[in-house]
Amino acid sequence: MAQKKPPDRLNRLIWEGTIRIKKSGSKDYNKEKKTTSMNSHSSEQITHLDEAMLEICGSANKIFIKDVTRTYIYNSKKTSFKQDVSKHCPLPSDAMKHNILYREKNYPSNVKKPGDKREVSESTIKNIYSSKDCKSPKEMTFIRLKIYPDGKYQLLVESKVYTETKINNTNTTTYACDGKQKKKTFRVATCGFNEKEETIVNSEGNIVSKLRPKLLHIAAVVEGQIQDNSIVLKEKPLAEVKPKYEGDYQETLRVSALLRGKNPCQIVYNEMMADISWAEAFAKTEIRHRARNIKNYKYLVRKKAIEIYKSRTGSDPPGVDSVNMRTNEDCAIDKKDEYRKQIMDKCLPYVLYKRTLSHEKEHVDQCIHRHTEFMQGMNDPQTHGMMEVGAYLVGIKKLFYWLKDNCVNHDLAEVEAVINNIDRLHLMRKIK
Ligand SMILES: [Zn+2]
Repeated sequence: MAQKKPPDRLNRLIWEGTIRIKKSGSKDYNKEKKTTSMNSHSSEQITHLDEAMLEICGSANKIFIKDVTRTYIYNSKKTSFKQDVSKHCPLPSDAMKHNILYREKNYPSNVKKPGDKREVSESTIKNIYSSKDCKSPKEMTFIRLKIYPDGKYQLLVESKVYTETKINNTNTTTYACDGKQKKKTFRVATCGFNEKEETIVNSEGNIVSKLRPKLLHIAAVVEGQIQDNSIVLKEKPLAEVKPKYEGDYQETLRVSALLRGKNPCQIVYNEMMADISWAEAFAKTEIRHRARNIKNYKYLVRKKAIEIYKSRTGSDPPGVDSVNMRTNEDCAIDKKDEYRKQIMDKCLPYVLYKRTLSHEKEHVDQCIHRHTEFMQGMNDPQTHGMMEVGAYLVGIKKLFYWLKDNCVNHDLAEVEAVINNIDRLHLMRKIK
């Protein structure tokens, strides 16, 4: 028979911490030029920041994004200025009645200094677009962590975002001869996903464009070596856009990560021991008989379970749940997703969710196949105890086999005997 490959120590770890991918760019360009006929200058400034910060938790094969903080800012300002040194303006109309010699003698030439001027200014602002029909940054972020037996890892993060764009462009020409100005504008704005993209040119030649939100994404893949059960990256540069000339656009993509891997074995073991204590307390017939009603029964069981746990382990039971999953009278499980979220938010081993789910599935089975008994169990300590022992056993076994597969350092022989004993007693009573 093929032997089951033991899982490596690192793949079992539960990773918790933050990862940040940050793209930042800038441009600061200025150029001036003077010739005998023209003066000009142009400039462009850009600030660009695209960042995703993730809070994550989970084992490599079941990693969970707890939260994502997404930032996107793009600002640019562009200007251009050109002015002729001089402009020969036409002579007054009555001058044109005379011949050229007369004109030259009697009408001084009409030269304006400086001459015509052309100015262009454009500003672009981009931000994160958000609306009801947009997915949240968390839903648009993806992570994958691969861990190899030799301690190498590969981390992939990708985060998408919708952006809105606002562009304002003005193009002005000022004529030196008559001082008149001609102005043209071009504007871009972002509309909703369902709106029509369109460009309208009005009678003065001004242009207005409406564009839908644009999807942008930032991504990074990093590889490295796990050290002391940790993945630590400090602003590791991944990509770079180098300036081609002075003041040109430059950009860097950097990744930071601080992830600590915790060993889930002790947590799972404590949970299993707690469940065993509850199963034993529920199995005790004297408590069932002593209880005045179901409420009192639950109180006595709880007291007993804590007592058993303390006597076995010397400490207080873990008490993981603040949200409880339960099986209702229609044989359906309530608060399944809330419970799962609770496990993830507290960064606990995923098997604890599977344990509770299998416990409740046993109740569903009881509810479907032994409905009268199940309903009776809501008020009768005897039946209630039976039902709970059955459900706890299923959950305990889930944790037991997980520990057996994953945590070779835990000696489970003694625990196995305890579980078998509860199992045997439970079966005997069920058959009776
Ligand atoms: Zn139960």
